This record gives sequence, structure tokens and C-alpha cells, in this order.
Amino acid sequence: MEMRIGGKEVSSPDNTWIEVKNPATGELIDRVPAGSADDVAEAVDAAAASLMGWKKKGMRERGVILFHAAEKVREQHKDLARLLTMEQGKPLRDAVDEVRGYANTLEYYAGISAQPAGEVVRLGAPGDAIVVREPLGVCGAIIPWNMPVIIMGWKVGPVLLAGNTMVLKPASTTPLTNLRLAAILDEAGLPPGVLNVVTGSGGVVGEALVKHPGVKKISFTGNCATGRRIRELASSHLKNITLELGGSDPMIVMDDADIDKAVEGALRGRFYNAGQTCTAVKRLYVHDKIAGEFVQKLKVRISALNVGNGLGPKTDMGPLNSAEQREQIVQMVDRTRERGDGTILTGGGVLRGKAYENGHFYHPTLVTDVAPDSCLVTDELFGPVLPVITIPYLDAGITLANTSRFGLGASVWTKNLHTARRVFDEVHAGIIWVNRHLTVPPEVPFGGTKESGIGWGNGYHAIDQYSRTRTLFLGW
Ligand code: NDP
Repeated sequence: MEMRIGGKEVSSPDNTWIEVKNPATGELIDRVPAGSADDVAEAVDAAAASLMGWKKKGMRERGVILFHAAEKVREQHKDLARLLTMEQGKPLRDAVDEVRGYANTLEYYAGISAQPAGEVVRLGAPGDAIVVREPLGVCGAIIPWNMPVIIMGWKVGPVLLAGNTMVLKPASTTPLTNLRLAAILDEAGLPPGVLNVVTGSGGVVGEALVKHPGVKKISFTGNCATGRRIRELASSHLKNITLELGGSDPMIVMDDADIDKAVEGALRGRFYNAGQTCTAVKRLYVHDKIAGEFVQKLKVRISALNVGNGLGPKTDMGPLNSAEQREQIVQMVDRTRERGDGTILTGGGVLRGKAYENGHFYHPTLVTDVAPDSCLVTDELFGPVLPVITIPYLDAGITLANTSRFGLGASVWTKNLHTARRVFDEVHAGIIWVNRHLTVPPEVPFGGTKESGIGWGNGYHAIDQYSRTRTLFLGW
């Protein structure tokens, strides 16, 4: 596939390409240009040239285009989901959900386009002030490979609705569905240049985008180290940034919880997308009165998970997205084993056998008796491994939950409203779920505290991240 700049497909000018391979089989699916700083400059020029026309369209007209794109995505959801599974690895039914989630997100932003924006402040004798929100200009968006479709929606929806134009850089292992979705937006009526997609490595294309003086805002989703680098680069131009970074979400299960429901929550919360989700359950704190029953039931459910190619009809969990990603998990679990930092109840290794030999598969893994300073709980565990620690009472769960440098999400499983309220008040995280985990609908603002990020996405609140306030003062 080729890049999209100014509404056109653009090939690699110097014939350098990035191969996109299926993480389940190692097969080549396609290739995309390894873009350069010149490609970024061309894309920023195209976005700048289309800015005035797009801004003048008005919110409702922009919303209609987003809505048409969502309709087309729904019509093509099967093909899009298949492509997503092939490049990312997740089971087809989860890929279908993600593609639908993308359409929901565009529809949500299309829907709020009909709401009046701005206000009039009546000041008496001096006059009146009209306060409006205006687009920032050309925005750069850099996205990861774990949820490439939904995260594209979280960027494209508010950025375009607010009247900005943009340049998107997809992750190098998952650019294909993003390119298809960009083409669909163009087919739905997006003027050429409003959305451009430049493929290529983070170090070249990503950094060129962050450094380009014509880009007024960078919205980045990815890991903390990259986020820090982007913040440094962006600071020289005082560039506006939103950083949606890593997480190490705790799940606290109290002794009054519905155990079966909590077991399902932990299973889905951890093993969905092979554990490669920013808001996955990454640390499980369970009350010691119910820990025995809870862990036993969870172990049975984890051992029964069907791991395989995401295109298989019975697959519950696919491969990790890359060899590097799997290697990180291998090392973390091996270190835990060597140091005696936990007891591996099930899993704990790479899947062997003919069906798995060319893919990046890892056994769904449950570890108990985890030491509080184990890397499994201190680092971001971005794979299918669940560390469990028992707690004697709620305060211990809250204290342990807060030991992390991350603060993205957290959940508490209880029937007691006071317990839920205490967790909301005392656990440092951008989103607290009660008797649920993982759900992030487009209507709800979402962003991290501590090292999990700066700013937020989703909801009408995201429009603030991609617009500035201006005031017209009318003196009478
Ligand atoms: P990375 O930070 O490695 O990559 C994300 C994107 O940044 C990719 O497009 C990558 O390009 C690009 N990139 C890499 N280096 C640079 C650079 N120096 N300058 C500019 N861009 C660069 O993240 P991961 O791939 O590890 O993604 C997973 C992470 O994302 C996890 O930590 C996860 O928790 C987090 N995440 C956070 C979410 C949130 O909303 N808070 C949501 C989903 C994920 P390339 O692919 O070419 O390397």
C-alpha cells in the first residue's frame, strides 16, 4: 500500500519499504513506503493548504463527512476487520468490535457537531464579549500498533471536527488498516489534504513530524519513553501536546464481590488483545478471604483459553504483535522465575508446535505470591501475564494500587458503595471502574495521571485539546 498525501497515493520516492507481516504466521501481507522527512514536509504543506477551506466549512458540514465515513466503514467492516487481524494479530471478533468502535467514535463526533459552541459574555457598560473555540491548525498524530483502529478514531474524530487538518503516522507494524480508513474518509468527502498519512519509522517520520514548525499540535499515544522524547522535541517550539501513555492498571477484588463476575472481568481485562492494551488489568489485588476460590476459578478459565491465529473461528487469544514484544514478556517472566518472585500457576512460556512456530505466541499466564518489587508489578506488563497479590483489607489494596508510577485506570469489584467511593477518592488514576474494567466508550473523557500522560481524549472534552479559545470584544 502507498502513503496518502494531499488526497493521493504516494509511493516510496527512493524505493525503500517497510514489510508488514502477519504476527501469527510470519507471512508477508504487504509493504508500505519507509517515508522520510521530505514526505512529512510535503504532507504538512498539503494539510496547511487545505486548512482554511476545512475551517470555513463549519462544524455541522464537517460532522456530516465524518458520519458518511462511518457508514462506509460499517459497510466494509468485515474486510477491514480481517485486515486488522492479519496485521495486528487479535481475534477476528475483537477486530470487528474495534472497527465498529471506530465507526461509533466518528458518529459520536458527527453527533456533537450540531451542538452550538461558544458563548456571549455581557459586561454591561464596556460592551459584550463573544468567546469562540478555533482550530489550532495542522495537527500531527502518532499512534501505536495495539489498537490502531480505535486510536485512529480517537484522534481523527475530535481533530477534524474541531476544524484542524492533520498528518497521521501509523505504527510500522500496523499501517494497513489505517491507510484503508484514511482512503475511506477521502471517499466520504474529505477535501484532499485534510488528512494525510505518512508511513515510516518513529525515529525518522515521527520525529520529523514533531519537529516540523508548521505542526501546531502533537497528539501521541504510545509508551512513556517515546512520550518523554516527544515532549523534549516539542518543547523547543512550545508545541501543544497530548500524551496518552502507558498504564499498569490495578484491579481490586473485595470479599463481597460477585466472584464469578470478577473472574470474567479479570479474564477479559487481562487477556483481551493478548494483554496488549493500555488499560488492561496488569495487577490483581484480591482479598485473602476469597483469594483461594477466585484464583482457582481464574486458573481454570485461563487454561481453557484457545490461543491461535486470530482468523481461526475458535480463537480467544492471538499472538503478540511482534517478536520484540514477546521477548519483553519472556524476559520478565524468566526473571520472576529466577528470582523466586512468584509462583507460576499456569502458562509461563512460549507456545511450541507446528501451528505456532512462525508466530509470536505466548501462553496465557497466571502468577501468584508475587513479590511487591517484582518487575511484573513495577513495570508495564504488556502481554498475557497476570500477577496476583492477596490483600487483608481495602487500605492495603489502595496503598499497593498507588505504588505504581502509572495512573491510567483502576477498578474495584465490590457491592459496597462506600468501598467504591473510597477507591474513586483515593486511587490515583484517570478512570475508575466499579465492577467493570477496560471499557472506554467515545462519550467518556479518558486520560492518565502521573506518568500515564498529559491531557485527555474522548468525549466533547477532547475538542478542547484540539482548539483554542479566542475572544472578540465588542465595545459599545
Ligand atoms: P511506541 O511509543 O514504541 O510507538 C508508538 C508510536 O510512536 C509508533 O507509531 C512509533 O513508530 C512511534 N515512535 C517511536 N519512536 C518515536 C520517536 N522517537 N518519535 C516519534 N514517534 C516515535 O509505543 P508502543 O508501540 O510500545 O505502544 C504501546 C504503548 O502504548 C504501551 O505503553 C501502551 O500502554 C500505550 N498506549 C496508551 C494508550 C492510552 O490511551 N494511554 C492507548 C494504547 C496504548 P514505529 O512503529 O515506527 O516505531
